[in-house]
Amino acid sequence: MRLEELASKFEKLRIQFSEQSYNQDAGLPYDKDLMKNLATQLTQVSQDFLTNFEKPRNMYLISIAAIAVAEKLETELELHEQRVKKISTDKYEIAGRTVNWGTWRQFNSITDNPTKRKEVFDDFVKKALSIAPLVEKRMSISRDIYSRYSLTPLDSYLELEGLEYNQLHSLLMKLGDGARDAFLAAAEHLVAKVLGKKNFEYYDDFYTWRGRIYRPLGKHFEKIDGLDEVRRFLVTFGFDPSRIKVDAEDREKKSPSAFCFGIQIPNDIRICFRKVSPFTDFGSIFHEFGHAIHGASANPNDSVWKRYVVPMSVAETFSILIESMLDTPLFLKQELGLVDRAVNEIVDRRRFMNLAFLTFYAANSIMKMEFWKKRYSIEDAAKRWQELTKRFFIEVPGDYWLLHHVMPSYDMYSPSYMIASLRVAAVRERLRQDYGEIWWKSKKAGNYIRDLAATRGDFDIKAWNLDAESYLKDVKTLSFL
Ligand SMILES: [Zn+2]
Repeated sequence: MRLEELASKFEKLRIQFSEQSYNQDAGLPYDKDLMKNLATQLTQVSQDFLTNFEKPRNMYLISIAAIAVAEKLETELELHEQRVKKISTDKYEIAGRTVNWGTWRQFNSITDNPTKRKEVFDDFVKKALSIAPLVEKRMSISRDIYSRYSLTPLDSYLELEGLEYNQLHSLLMKLGDGARDAFLAAAEHLVAKVLGKKNFEYYDDFYTWRGRIYRPLGKHFEKIDGLDEVRRFLVTFGFDPSRIKVDAEDREKKSPSAFCFGIQIPNDIRICFRKVSPFTDFGSIFHEFGHAIHGASANPNDSVWKRYVVPMSVAETFSILIESMLDTPLFLKQELGLVDRAVNEIVDRRRFMNLAFLTFYAANSIMKMEFWKKRYSIEDAAKRWQELTKRFFIEVPGDYWLLHHVMPSYDMYSPSYMIASLRVAAVRERLRQDYGEIWWKSKKAGNYIRDLAATRGDFDIKAWNLDAESYLKDVKTLSFL
């Protein structure tokens, strides 16, 4: 079979497979047998490619990934079911539902009594061990599949990201160490106001902070709608968001995190989210629309590998860029009509969460890199993650990493957000220099971003300097520190 024929077969199967995965995350009915069948066919096509071709290299890497996905499917489906069953407690309810892995974040954001939050945290961390064998299994399947091609998932990740191991490892260390003191000082300042307690402790996790810190901002966002605002912004910027489908319905089995799927790129892009609170929803909506315009900007005539094989940090570049509008004082004032006091409060609180993110994701990302490099077991991983949390913020029981929504279910991914955040700072600086302070009103600036988005898998990673120092300096500028 010719390369193009194989690739188009790959795309057709991928579309059908993505649709089922989308339904699964959206809490809609999905067909497990169909998924398994499609995964088997994807393995076949991928093996055909790997036997007959060595290039294009990104098609080679995605073919290995596709085989690994198929091999892991059964385990992943089980993990998906088991974690809501096993990570759960009958002791507390939220809106008539048991508190479990899926509703834990909601519970933490509305429960003002810290003792109750601690109790559930300790209980869930203990129960995390019950899903450890499944996590171990999915990781070892990945390791095994990649090793057949003399690679690890980490090798493939670094190659697509255009980074060396040491380069990324030391960048992440620098960000984690650099954010630490400012984060802890700011946490101490905010802990009473936000968490209603005297000290910041191990069970006050990133998601608890995030679920509560934007509460006082809700009042500014009750009368404006995130979807209307992001669409208006994108139209002014020269994009057409009308083809992007949005599902905002509340369903019991819907994922607690917002997400965007490029089912068929560029023609079928779907955003899905669950309403949490007015300002948090704004953040999620802007972020996911960034992913969506990235997908929708692809050239339909480009090859399958160019459209679909995008380094993960490039995917996050567009989402973080659009989300960063909410860190832009002039945008908040002029476009959302907010007064200075509200703007300052938003910028401060988002910067604080950015510090929290840097410390938490430095631990996540470094552990994940070492996991593959040093062949950690699940216990080693927990031990190392605990050490890293102690280094970057506060010592957290190591098994917590098994309860994260990205860490145990992806081979890699965590560092992508940090790489992308630094790249976005560089992109924004370019926009400001070339199109002025209010670049988001410039169609030319919009065209520039659309052209960047259209490069998809050919995005020029090396063109953007990742400057940790100036990034940290900016994030650490909090009005109360
Ligand atoms: Zn994202």
